Amino acid sequence: MILTATQLNQVDAQMKRLISTDNYYGKIYREKGIEGIDSQEDFESLPFSSKEDLRNAYPLGIQAVPDEEVVRIHSSSGTTGKPVIIPYTAKDVDDWAIMFARCYETAGITNKDRIQITPGYGLWTAGIGFQAGCEKLGAMCIPMGPGNTDKQLQMMMDLKTTVITATSSYALLLSEEINKRGIKDKICLTKGVFGSERWSEKMRNTIKENLGIELYDIYGLTEIYGPGIGINCEHETGMHYWDDYIYIEIIDPKTGKPVPDGEEGEIVITTLVKEGAPLIRFRTHDISRIIPGECPCGRHYPRLDIIKGRSDDMFKVHGVNMFPSQVEDLLQLVDGASSEYNVTIAHDDSKNKDIMIVTVEVEGRVDFEEAADKIRSLFKSRVGVTPKITVVPVGTLPRSEKKTKRVTDYRFENQ
Ligand code: ZN
Repeated sequence: MILTATQLNQVDAQMKRLISTDNYYGKIYREKGIEGIDSQEDFESLPFSSKEDLRNAYPLGIQAVPDEEVVRIHSSSGTTGKPVIIPYTAKDVDDWAIMFARCYETAGITNKDRIQITPGYGLWTAGIGFQAGCEKLGAMCIPMGPGNTDKQLQMMMDLKTTVITATSSYALLLSEEINKRGIKDKICLTKGVFGSERWSEKMRNTIKENLGIELYDIYGLTEIYGPGIGINCEHETGMHYWDDYIYIEIIDPKTGKPVPDGEEGEIVITTLVKEGAPLIRFRTHDISRIIPGECPCGRHYPRLDIIKGRSDDMFKVHGVNMFPSQVEDLLQLVDGASSEYNVTIAHDDSKNKDIMIVTVEVEGRVDFEEAADKIRSLFKSRVGVTPKITVVPVGTLPRSEKKTKRVTDYRFENQ
């Protein structure tokens, strides 16, 4: 995607404004002698911005307007260190609601719908974003917030909720409860709108089957407004994103160079009209690709593929990029395989090639050799790499309460 003339002017105007203030990025641009941009080339030579910067600028170093124009802040907490604070002007809040309403419309939701909101309210951009978009659309908002499943289901039946918004894991829980309680015929849901966290095909199908609804993935992050900057349409050919508010480029996470449309890499977002805290070339660490061509729905908004993983988790063997999520998806297709596995990658000096060993836990009732063959052929057909497979009984691999380290790469440890 190349910046249109309008987008180029918008970015230039945002930069000039930043440079004229004491904003964190304004100072960086001044120090580097950057005065604005005239071309795609200028744009692509601009430094990236990152979550790290936003932490350094804590609490309000990235505010780019006078205090009297800020109407709200949101915050995202990282897994480590200081949180990040994002200030919003009245226009930013309104723009976000407009984008979110557009998401609902793209999902075929209208002002006749009743939208039950279960994501959390507070410093996060979750609940309030879903609500503002709903009100902008003119639909009935049922602002439940998270938890209290009994009450959620009661309201869902009494108010005849037609759209559920949730995290995918809470949607799964609700769908299982509805099934268990045998109240499916009292539920009027037709659609679900879920945050685009990584979720498996198995989970998606369970929700679809339990509830008999259409599912929509919404994309967004607190640093760039919040959820609502993109969503899939009924054709499920990726997520349309709103290029009148944001510009997206896909870069090679190692070199930082933009890759051609269609190729996978890290999503980098530039806001086009944000006032409170504009961000230029913000690295999201989400991995996806731009889907080239037109969508069958006829909308001209460009499309992002579903989020494949985080660039921090990516590993590469025999020239193929892989993510733990792909391994998880594939293991779900194997009868008896548990969700526990690990991947070891090393370099065989004598043959001068990389070796990948996948260790998988399989239930005792299943023939280990057959399971290993199945896993090997799935890797070959779905990933394009044939690893060595070791099958072990369930309970063999170490469990951890924190995030389990799945991939060990010895290739870089001795360098
Ligand atoms: Zn479409």
